[in-house]
Amino acid sequence: MEKFKHKKSLGQNFLQDEQVLKKIASSIETNENDLIIEIGPGEGALTKYLKKKKGIVICYEVDERLTKYLNLLENDDCKVIYQDFLQANLDEIESNTYDNIYFIANIPYYITTPIIEKITSSNLNVQDMVFLVQKEVAERLSALPRTKEYGALTVLLTYDYNIEYLFTVNKESFKPMPKVDSAVIKMSKINRNNKVLNREKFIKLVKDSFAMKRKNIRNNLKSYDLKIVEAILNKYNCTLQNRAEELPLSFFIDLTNELNKN
Ligand code: SAM
Repeated sequence: MEKFKHKKSLGQNFLQDEQVLKKIASSIETNENDLIIEIGPGEGALTKYLKKKKGIVICYEVDERLTKYLNLLENDDCKVIYQDFLQANLDEIESNTYDNIYFIANIPYYITTPIIEKITSSNLNVQDMVFLVQKEVAERLSALPRTKEYGALTVLLTYDYNIEYLFTVNKESFKPMPKVDSAVIKMSKINRNNKVLNREKFIKLVKDSFAMKRKNIRNNLKSYDLKIVEAILNKYNCTLQNRAEELPLSFFIDLTNELNKN
């Protein structure tokens, strides 16, 4: 077969290490009636292991030049849709027909956040998301409060998912080799007891709190009722001088609910 010309613009660094590919595929436990969605199958390096698992596999690949590799993998239980995943209509997925939905992908770093935001804001009831991402993105997503990596996206994801940094993948495992190392991250759906009363307000509050990273809560939340904000901060032994990165998820939940009462 003619040699494939990788497109840098599509983040085409293909994973070569079979042990790593197997390990990624084994990080989800599926059943017959489950759906696995792979984003960016490339030449199908990971897809071939996903096919061995129980359930149906659907892949979204933007580059039609990969048809010649992916055609060989397609069957009744494994379909490839040639489309930009960010443009895909996820409502077309008949989610009611599946018990669980899993997303798994080795994704180009520049669309990691849009992909995560697209999935988490969809109506799909996603069980796990397993992504191979740039190592620093994995560190940011799994960051704890009071670390410089902790940010709005981490807080918002932690509300719905348990985020786990699974393992690091060296840049030598890819072809062509990227500039930086990568890591596999797993986000598993959780059912939480302490829920927010208004999700839109919660999302806005978290984004506003982190809007200017170096500013404190007083500055970032100046358009809010600061008396209420301060009262909740005090519950956490904090003041308006503290910064959002010092505050745990439960603070943002409590504050959303308190503001919602008024
Ligand atoms: N899964 C393969 C592997 O692990 O070797 C390929 C991973 S490669 C890092 C990323 C893949 O995503 C490429 O095949 C690329 O063409 C595809 N891709 C890039 N942008 C995409 C998008 N917006 N929607 C769907 N696929 C995309």
